[in-house]
Amino acid sequence: MKQPHFLLAGMLPGLLLWLCTFPPLLPWGFFGHRLINKMAVFTLPPEMITGFKPHLEYLSDHAVDPDKRRYATHFEAVRHYIDLDHWGANPFDSLPRDWTQALVLNTHYEIYTQKGDTLEVLVAPGTTLDSDSIRLELMANGKVLQDCLIPAEVYRAFVIEHVRNAYYEERRLISCAAWRKLPGTESFPLDCESSIALEPFSIHGMLPYFLPQIQYQLTEAFRLRQATRILRLSAEIGHYIADAHVPLHTTKNYNGQLSGQTGIHAFWESRLPELYAIEQYNFFVGKATYITDIQGFYWDIVRQSHLLVDSVLRLEKQLSAVYPSDAQSCFEERLGVIVRTPCTDYAQVYHKSLNGMVERRMRAAIQAIGSAWLTAWVDAGQPELTPLRDTVAVLDEQNLPVRSLRVRPHEE
Ligand SMILES: [Zn+2]
Repeated sequence: MKQPHFLLAGMLPGLLLWLCTFPPLLPWGFFGHRLINKMAVFTLPPEMITGFKPHLEYLSDHAVDPDKRRYATHFEAVRHYIDLDHWGANPFDSLPRDWTQALVLNTHYEIYTQKGDTLEVLVAPGTTLDSDSIRLELMANGKVLQDCLIPAEVYRAFVIEHVRNAYYEERRLISCAAWRKLPGTESFPLDCESSIALEPFSIHGMLPYFLPQIQYQLTEAFRLRQATRILRLSAEIGHYIADAHVPLHTTKNYNGQLSGQTGIHAFWESRLPELYAIEQYNFFVGKATYITDIQGFYWDIVRQSHLLVDSVLRLEKQLSAVYPSDAQSCFEERLGVIVRTPCTDYAQVYHKSLNGMVERRMRAAIQAIGSAWLTAWVDAGQPELTPLRDTVAVLDEQNLPVRSLRVRPHEE
């Protein structure tokens, strides 16, 4: 394809006003997310296809809803990635896999008193998940004021109710009454006015923690035969699973910004699929399979993705060092706007050096999404999906306007 190259900028300086830098491309290209969800339907067994196939369009269109509501709450953005390298060279050795367990040991609290002081409540250092009881310390200005021992199961229930479930309900306030009901802490927040829970995990991304949760929600929707909810959650879990297959969704160098490769996120997950997926990739990936270990399944996906981060970055780095620098970026028109994007020839060389990686990750995503849908349906008792087939189109309540140009690509 003929490339306008930089010449265009020289010829039409006025257009510079319209220029966006890398990357106005959309995540997995919206294109990629839509395609992946659509192809996942064909992995399903006949009993499910009858329910899903009439909604191919819906499942495809709504594959991008989670990105559209990216700004709706701060709880949303962190569901799309995990910065595994934040957690050290071998994050899989130390990072808790279970969200509840992670919260039990690592949540701390701030209690705001009527006098205007801020007190902290921390789990005592050295506490392990094997402990029969959890020691909580009430602190002010770095000093322990009081401590108390709480049976581990009681504290775990407190965390589930007031921290974990609150998280999914997108709130982080804990009532003072909740503290007073926790045995052992009755005297803790003497003049508590309000309180919040804080945890160190979600800020670095919580994709593999969120996936089992939405899997559970989808299973419940099948169990309760909630047709529209089944469709919405199927479309959305497809989005998050697809994100988990993108290597750059698992690193803090998510857009090459730490290695002088800014823009590589959209290059890999948008530009390459848009150029090659339809004409070159084979998306017949076989049948969906039942997932026996849901938590392990999702962690394994991000682990596999993370193993590829080095290649994604290194290959482009090597290539950019030897490829003519004025032939790496080109200008193209997209949606009426002139944008800078990797040139097609440059993309082709990078794509070749990746040796099928993008296609393999897209294929794996398709298979995983089909398997997630199948597993939710099986775990719900394999309900008859005829009502799903007859459900006429569906909720647009979350069809929020796209604000894609301003987002961190990583968070999509
Ligand atoms: Zn996303």
